[in-house]
Amino acid sequence: MLFPVFILVYCCRLLKLQQAYYIARESTMIDMNRRCRYCETILSGRADKQFCTDHCRSAFHNKLKHPLNFLIRQLNKQLLKNRSLLAACYRKKLVRVSRNWLSQKGFSFQHITHIIQDQQGAFYHCCYDHAYIDHGIDIVVTQIGGKRQSY
Ligand SMILES: [Zn+2]
Repeated sequence: MLFPVFILVYCCRLLKLQQAYYIARESTMIDMNRRCRYCETILSGRADKQFCTDHCRSAFHNKLKHPLNFLIRQLNKQLLKNRSLLAACYRKKLVRVSRNWLSQKGFSFQHITHIIQDQQGAFYHCCYDHAYIDHGIDIVVTQIGGKRQSY
């Protein structure tokens, strides 16, 4: 009865060795698809390596922190917040809401993605797939575009 157990243990050890070998081989292989995220040089070494040098790593992160990128991130953040607020109103069937109430929730009326004018001449101020029609004190919230989403 001991013989099959011995074989099983031996096979398990063999499998572990084989796995370790493949992991080691993979980590040192040069994958032509993996490139430095900054300079596009082909990477070798660890499988999770993203940059060829420390210089490229810091240059990449400095580029991310560039003021223009910061501005774009802030704009996108506000646009997404606006869209989220309009979507929440729409979802809760709050079709007509006050400007002040929406402003207090963090909505910015300066941030929209586009404007659509319908055949009756009404202007839809859009944040992606949601929009509002400005009626002065109140606004009317609606969803625009193709397929209506279920939340
Ligand atoms: Zn590089």
